[in-house]
Amino acid sequence: MEMMLEIFILIFIFVTGACAGSFLNVLILRIPAGENFVTGRSHCMSCGYTLTWYDMIPVLSWLFYGGKCRKCGAKISFQYPLIELTNAVLWTVTAAVCGPELRTLILLPVISALIVISVIDIRTFEIPFGLNVFIGSCGLAVTILGGRAELLSHLGGFFIISLPLFILFLISGGNAIGGGDVKLMAAVGLVLGTGNTVAAFIIGCFLGVVIHLVRMKVQGTGSRLALGPYLAAGSIIAIWAGNPLVNWYLNLLGL
Ligand SMILES: [Zn+2]
Repeated sequence: MEMMLEIFILIFIFVTGACAGSFLNVLILRIPAGENFVTGRSHCMSCGYTLTWYDMIPVLSWLFYGGKCRKCGAKISFQYPLIELTNAVLWTVTAAVCGPELRTLILLPVISALIVISVIDIRTFEIPFGLNVFIGSCGLAVTILGGRAELLSHLGGFFIISLPLFILFLISGGNAIGGGDVKLMAAVGLVLGTGNTVAAFIIGCFLGVVIHLVRMKVQGTGSRLALGPYLAAGSIIAIWAGNPLVNWYLNLLGL
């Protein structure tokens, strides 16, 4: 019975995550353009046709209409269902790993914000300030939930990576690291706590270096690197497995 309930909850979170993913698509489109993302109906980018509810069922509408606008037949980017599916999967894994706690409910929108930041950073090399503020606010909520016992860890998380990066930012005149990356590590650090923030950063940099070198070799991508997606990936891995990873590493050092 309990197992059934758990599966039902995870399916519910998957579906909710897919629906939230639709909204993420709107944010990805409208934030860089400086458009209002609260009001204004979604419409076809080619013909302007206003989408109805059955045009906007996550993933399924895209599959059903063969990735085309129902009115004009213009191709609709695969990115839409991909974002919806990604958010659904990441929400489900997070819920399964982090368990039924209030803290988990705060982590889900953090994960979504990290997805939006990743796509926008890849496209524009900018991380919108508002999204960092949003993650920071969630971090504040997680910090308050953690109580006095975790207070120092969360405050430490805010500074431990962002402060050295900020100094690097100042010394290099913003060439070595982007201001958005510095703020992202502060905001996400408040969510993660000290140890997990360090883990997130190391994992993110490792992924960034490896994947970027491969892309430069294989795809001939320029040397300019959007660090946001890698820091986001590192942060999500730290949310899932940060504590065991940090403990494993401390054990390795004999601490
Ligand atoms: Zn159309």
